[in-house]
Amino acid sequence: MKGSEDFELRGDRALPLRTGHEERAFDPRELLSPVRPTKVIAIARNYAEHAKELGHDIPKEPLFFLKPVSAVIGPGDAIRLPPQSQEVHHEAELGLVIGTRATRISESAARAHIFGVTCVNDVTARDLQRLDKHFTRAKGFDTFCPIGPWIETELPTGPRAILCRVDGEVRQRGSTGDLIFGFEQLVSYVSHVMTLEPGDVIATGTPAGVGPLLAGQQVEIEIEGIGTLSNPVVAA
Ligand code: MN
Repeated sequence: MKGSEDFELRGDRALPLRTGHEERAFDPRELLSPVRPTKVIAIARNYAEHAKELGHDIPKEPLFFLKPVSAVIGPGDAIRLPPQSQEVHHEAELGLVIGTRATRISESAARAHIFGVTCVNDVTARDLQRLDKHFTRAKGFDTFCPIGPWIETELPTGPRAILCRVDGEVRQRGSTGDLIFGFEQLVSYVSHVMTLEPGDVIATGTPAGVGPLLAGQQVEIEIEGIGTLSNPVVAA
């Protein structure tokens, strides 16, 4: 937890996941990002309605990119709007957290490699994405990857509502049941390209309704049964 040294680390030392054991009241904004990934993989266009709203075709295979780990922040940390962009968007996403190393694994083996699920905001400088036609700069600014508030280790067995609210107003409302490529497909597919390490996060894509964030606003990503990730937005 922030400003406190009493957050106990337990479990396998090879697993860079923060786990606590004491039951006590806390404010989710006091939490750090629940994970320190070696990489964050983000899936593009994994909800048909979102692909359409950006004028893209639905991909035939998962399309993915990397977000730098330097972009990762925790619940309550500020998303800083960079001066290079005039159009920074929220993207509500469910994040898969890898628990054990995965290299070229089958879809049927994939679930065993998933430690849990969390909320991710794939913050995006949309104007720079259009300008660059690449994702690295637009998706890679410091603070552009809020993760949390914690990891739910019970994996969803059915569709979950996924929402983004800005200052309490619902901007995105989707269902993980509409994912084009599901959890196992994504873990297997990515693992055939790059080894997934414990703590790595796969952000599974965003539903329709992406839109701008302005300084002074509060953005929340909520996934049914998992939690709510809340971050203030400030000018850099
Ligand atoms: Mn995204």
